[in-house]
Amino acid sequence: MYCQTSAELETFLLRAQKVTTEGEVAHYIPALKNVDKNTLAMSIYHGQNQCFTVGNTEHTFTLQSISKVLALALALMDHGQEVVFSKVGMEPTGDPFNSIAKLESTKTARPLNPMINAGALVVTSLIKGAGLQEKIGRLLSFVHEMTSAPERKYDEAVAMSEYHTAHLNRSLAYFLKQHKVIEDDIEELLELYCYQCAIEVTCYDLARIGAIFAREGQDPESGRTILPAHIARICKTFMVTCGMYNASGEFAIKVGIPAKSGVSGAIMASVPEWGGIGIFGPALDEKGNSIAGIHLLEMLSSNYELHIF
Ligand code: GLN
Repeated sequence: MYCQTSAELETFLLRAQKVTTEGEVAHYIPALKNVDKNTLAMSIYHGQNQCFTVGNTEHTFTLQSISKVLALALALMDHGQEVVFSKVGMEPTGDPFNSIAKLESTKTARPLNPMINAGALVVTSLIKGAGLQEKIGRLLSFVHEMTSAPERKYDEAVAMSEYHTAHLNRSLAYFLKQHKVIEDDIEELLELYCYQCAIEVTCYDLARIGAIFAREGQDPESGRTILPAHIARICKTFMVTCGMYNASGEFAIKVGIPAKSGVSGAIMASVPEWGGIGIFGPALDEKGNSIAGIHLLEMLSSNYELHIF
């Protein structure tokens, strides 16, 4: 699809870009370090077929935690709500995304929600498939369907870089296996999780995915149902309550748009009945959210009255 630029959006982008110097790129996954922290790009998918783009939107980057929303949608389609929510809860934690603290204090050792790493590992373990290749293939096909970009694949270097250094995620997964919340082989699960997080996308892809969630699971161009409306609603609700990690409350008040971020510096936002927004700005704030991305969303929300509350 042809994407237009917009002078107003350029102004917002330049204003937001000033804060990139205050953030840091993610360091704990070695392969994520090699990126220019001043990069900032945004695409907007508006209505049925309007696209706007500003900044260097040619960049591809990895989904990281945004993949948690897609894995959740797939697991819900595979098993239904009863099974999924018997293993993972629906409550925000107020803790960092990789925290282990609440697992031990929760009676059933069930992670509090699917947007924290512990919960996401459980969700990923529920994705159906005969083995690693089939499961990652299903996740990729889902991304291809949503982005309408069948050439998307995962970044092997980022996946392996995370797999070999994922000591904390490994601990979370083994803890959950000990308590029978996860039944899979943990090393294979971690590999799958790292591949899932390393799926490459562009800002346009994220905007298009956001637009599908905004339209209750329907493809904005073809009108085809990509996921059932009730699952789109569950995903958007988690994006509001837990999508921006332990900054979700403040973000809901200041921006008020369902959104999910990833430590690559990506944000996927979904504005009901309006469209989707995809942002890439790898300089992160102390909670792990794109610092300039949050600024941009604040500006969009107030200028175009996108706050849903
Ligand atoms: N792959 C990352 C991790 O598990 C995703 C985290 C994130 O984007 N917040 O640590």
